[in-house]
Amino acid sequence: MALIVQKFGGTSVGTIERIRNVAARAVADYNAGNQVVVVVSAMSGETNKLVALIEGVAAFYNKREYDVVVAAGEQVSIGLLAAAIESMGYKARSYLGWQVRFITDSAFSKARIKEVEAFRIRKDLEDGYIVVVAGFQGIDELGNLTTLGRGGSDTSAVAVAAALKADRCDIYTDVDGVYTTDPRIVSKARKLDHISYDEMLEMASLGAKVLQIRSVELAKKYRVPLRVLSSLEEGTGTLLTEENHMMENILVSGITYDRNEAKVTIQGVPDKPGIAAAVFGALADANINVDMIIQNVSASSGETDLTFTVPRGDHKMAIKVLEPVVAQIGARSLLGNVEIAKVSAVGVGMRSHAGVAQRMFRALSQEGINIQMISTSEIKVSVVIDEKYMELAVRALHDAFELEKGAEGRIAS
Ligand code: ADP
Ligand code: ASP
Ligand code: MG
Repeated sequence: MALIVQKFGGTSVGTIERIRNVAARAVADYNAGNQVVVVVSAMSGETNKLVALIEGVAAFYNKREYDVVVAAGEQVSIGLLAAAIESMGYKARSYLGWQVRFITDSAFSKARIKEVEAFRIRKDLEDGYIVVVAGFQGIDELGNLTTLGRGGSDTSAVAVAAALKADRCDIYTDVDGVYTTDPRIVSKARKLDHISYDEMLEMASLGAKVLQIRSVELAKKYRVPLRVLSSLEEGTGTLLTEENHMMENILVSGITYDRNEAKVTIQGVPDKPGIAAAVFGALADANINVDMIIQNVSASSGETDLTFTVPRGDHKMAIKVLEPVVAQIGARSLLGNVEIAKVSAVGVGMRSHAGVAQRMFRALSQEGINIQMISTSEIKVSVVIDEKYMELAVRALHDAFELEKGAEGRIAS
C-alpha cells in the first residue's frame, strides 16, 4: 500500500464533468490499494475573478483582505470533489487550509508554509477516507487566513506529501508534462521525460508556471518523488530527479517567459552615495521584491538613470512608495511600464560554454526585437522586452537553440 498525493489544477476541476473525472482518478488509485490525498485548486478562472473583485473595490487594499477574498475559490472545488467521490460510493472528506492545518508566516499573498499538522489527514486515511484538501491557503500563527502566491496549490500538495512522507506526489495539470518551453506558445516544444530539481527550479523561478517555484524547492529539500502529468489523457508525464538528465553538454535546456513583472525607471538621479539604499530600502520596507536592476551614469551630466523590475501586482504600490523618495533625493522623474515581459534561456551547460548570450541577442535582433534590460547568471540569460513581442521571442529562441531536437541532436560547441 502506498500513500499518494494527487494535485489537480484549475482546468482539471474546471467543470462538473472534469470534477467527476478527478474523482474517478482518486478512486482508481484508492481501489488499487493506496491511501489517497487530493489537493485541488479553484475552478479555472475563479481566482482571477476574485482578484478582479478586490482590485475593483479599492486601488490600494490590505493584503490580509486580499487573502480572505482570493482563498474563497478553493472552498467550492474541495466540497464539490468530496461530494463527487461520495456519490461514487466512497468515503471522502474535504478540508480548508486552516482545518488541516497549513501553518504559514504572515506574508499575506505570498505566505510560506512553516509546518503542516497532518494528524487529521492521517486519521481519516486510516479510517478509509479519500481526503480532499484545499490548495493555495493556510493560516498564520495569529489565526489569519493566508495564501501562498498564485499557483500555490502545487506547493500545498508537495508540503502535504512531505508531511505525510508520501510515496508519490502527482501533479495533474492541463499539459502532459514539463516541456522545453510552454507548449501553448511553441508547438514544436519537446516533452521531457525527466528534469532535475535544479533545472526545474530555475525554469520555475523564471516563469514556467507549470510548477510553482516553492513546490520544487520543497520537493528537493524533502526528497518528495514528484511527477507532472495530464489529468485529461493517459501518459507517464515528467519525473523530477536528483541527477541531471539534460547533461552538461546541452547548452540550453529550456526557454521561459514571465509577464508578471513591471519596470520602474527613476530618471535624473544625482550620482552620489546613499541613493540606491534610499530607493531599495523603501521598497524593502513595503515588502516589494526587486528583480533586475540597471544603473547608467552619464559622465557629462553627473546624473544616473535607475531602472529595475518589480512584480506586476506590486507596481502601483512601488510607484506610491517611491514618489516621496524621488522628491527627497532630488531625482527628475519616476516612470512605470507594465507592458514588459522577461524571456530567459536556461541551462546548466552554460556554466562551461561561452556564447549563449550572444546567440540569444542575435536571434532577437533578427526578429527586430529590442532588448531593454539584460541579466545573466551561471545558468541563465534573461532579457526584458516589450510584452507584445514575447511570443515571437520565445519561438525565435526555441529555434535558435534547436530545442525541438533533443539531447543527441544538439551537442554544444
Ligand atoms: P494548473 O491550473 O494545473 O496548476 P497551470 O496553468 O498553473 O496549471 O500550469 C500549466 C500551464 O503551464 C500549461 O498549460 C502551460 O501553458 C504552462 N507552461 C509554461 N511553461 C511550461 C513548460 N515549460 N512546460 C509545460 N507547461 C508549461
Ligand atoms: N487558485 C490559485 C491560483 O489560481 C492557486 C492555484 O491554482 O494553484 O493561483
Ligand atoms: Mg498551477
